[in-house]
Amino acid sequence: ENGDQTKEPACFSSVIPGWFSEMSPMWPGEAHSLKVEKVLFQGKSDYQDVIVFQSATYGKVLVLDGVIQLTERDECAYQEMITHLPLCSIPNPKKVLVIGGGDGGVLREAARHASVEQIDMCEIDKMVVDVSKQFFPNVAIGFEDPRVNLVIGDGVAFLKNAAEGSYDAVIVDSSDPIGPAKELFEKPFFQSVARALRPGGVVCTQAESLWLHMDIIEDIVYNCREIFKGSVNYAWTSVPTYPSGVIGFMLCSTEGPDVDFKNPVNPIDDSSSKSNGPLKFYNAEIHSAAFCLPSFAKKVIESK
Ligand code: SAM
Repeated sequence: ENGDQTKEPACFSSVIPGWFSEMSPMWPGEAHSLKVEKVLFQGKSDYQDVIVFQSATYGKVLVLDGVIQLTERDECAYQEMITHLPLCSIPNPKKVLVIGGGDGGVLREAARHASVEQIDMCEIDKMVVDVSKQFFPNVAIGFEDPRVNLVIGDGVAFLKNAAEGSYDAVIVDSSDPIGPAKELFEKPFFQSVARALRPGGVVCTQAESLWLHMDIIEDIVYNCREIFKGSVNYAWTSVPTYPSGVIGFMLCSTEGPDVDFKNPVNPIDDSSSKSNGPLKFYNAEIHSAAFCLPSFAKKVIESK
């Protein structure tokens, strides 16, 4: 416990000393707390505050601007779902682009696909990459794959300059639409993603929580329906340390060969990369189940 509360950022709860409480205007009136064993890193990059702490029950935790990005215990759910929902929905994905994802987890998962030949990543904050390599080696292992090309820059600019129709899949592993990721939730960005995808190409984006952000999701679905003329779907999964304990994904395809996201055509080939260990969360059944929505969400998402 740090006697001098002034030294620790506001998110280290002064109410319950020795605990981290995740407070944000994106989830007013609630805060998930984790017991802190030790603060391992505190820094401020050009884009955000970066913290790593050892929690009592979720392993090490990465926090950006006071918001939990990943914990060692439950990151598998998010990384595996955001990667395999799109890549298992198309035959033989070859060229993949990851926007954000500076912890390396999506790279680790994309590397499991033997058909993948090239994984480009555009992450805005080098500090996130460096901190992940230092404190989360089992997540940052993704950077070691020879197919990975890392660009440090803004994903908005990267997509603006991407060659038309050059990717089979784009995965937008972004933080929340407050701070550097704001434009990654806006229409022009989705238009640039559609332009960079081949016909029948797929995009999967981090799409917040059904319980907390139906307004944001409604806007995203509306924009995606205007832009992606293949199919537009919302999937969701359980991640205990994300606000409300769930996180969602927009899964869209461009006009061209049909993509049936709900029935994976390209089962994950686990043997392709023993180095990253077995899948802990994703499987074909949970893939299909991820698209089953509660009625309050179906009404909004399927009516758009
Ligand atoms: N799983 C987390 C979630 O659901 O919020 C996201 C994890 S990942 C660490 C988010 C990454 O997006 C961060 O490394 C952040 O620096 C990056 N990012 C934010 N805005 C960006 C932008 N405009 N271009 C590229 N990367 C960006």
